[in-house]
Amino acid sequence: MLWQNLREEEFYDAVEKCGKVCIVPIGCIEMHGQHLPVGTDTMTCQYIAEKAAEIEPVMVAPAIWYADVQGLTTWKGTINFSIPLILEMLTELCAEIARNGFKKIVLLNGHGGNISMLHTFVRSTMKDKKDYVVMTRNDFCYEVKHLVQDLDRGEVFPELTPEDIAYVRDFVASGGERGHACINETSVMMKISPDTVRLDRCDAVEGRSNHKADYLYNVGFKECTRFWSINQPNSYHGTAPYGANERIGEVILKKRIAAQVEACRALKKDDQILEWNEAWNRAW
Ligand SMILES: [Zn+2]
Repeated sequence: MLWQNLREEEFYDAVEKCGKVCIVPIGCIEMHGQHLPVGTDTMTCQYIAEKAAEIEPVMVAPAIWYADVQGLTTWKGTINFSIPLILEMLTELCAEIARNGFKKIVLLNGHGGNISMLHTFVRSTMKDKKDYVVMTRNDFCYEVKHLVQDLDRGEVFPELTPEDIAYVRDFVASGGERGHACINETSVMMKISPDTVRLDRCDAVEGRSNHKADYLYNVGFKECTRFWSINQPNSYHGTAPYGANERIGEVILKKRIAAQVEACRALKKDDQILEWNEAWNRAW
């Protein structure tokens, strides 16, 4: 159920049919190598949210395209807003969604750089009395490593050719790097939006880590986008995915959509979090 497609009177039934669950896809606008569009993360989480909602009805709010890309402004195409502005926008957006009756709000995240900010935001919503709860979920829960594990367990993927399976197995076994604009995102985008992908440009810039900042990670430092940018100065983290294709993307998406469906079902069935939230409000 897509928020923007509903007429006013349809919202009353929608709240009940969706179990008060509303999904907000949130991605970003940032460079994805020279082979993927800058909107990759938002397009992907929006796609997963919408496809999952067709299977298990939940409300899907219009996606948030602008988010936390503090490390990637040296490249064209990136649009970066300050963290306080994004947090304020999320605060008002969630309040508006709740005012319309949806009390279980999920920020479905498609961008690794958003994780810290979204945790901060969710924590901030617990400070004051609210009649709704907010949570996050990452859409990138399944990738080629899991695909290989599933193949090893004997799962059959009719979408894949023997050559696809050999390629994916070899990519993972040989330590092919994966992280950003990598084999996963490239395959997924070849399925979602093939016209925007230029696979022939996947090695236009180096995507493999130079490991120059590993000594900082190795002693426990985290959450500094500068480290990531030192290791991946081209804002691309992945071994060039020459064999990526829409069939591999379809399998990854199928698994991610299934996981999102399962998450929505659990949340719709849940009868504890709003009760606990209400109890907390009374005790406040
Ligand atoms: Zn991405």
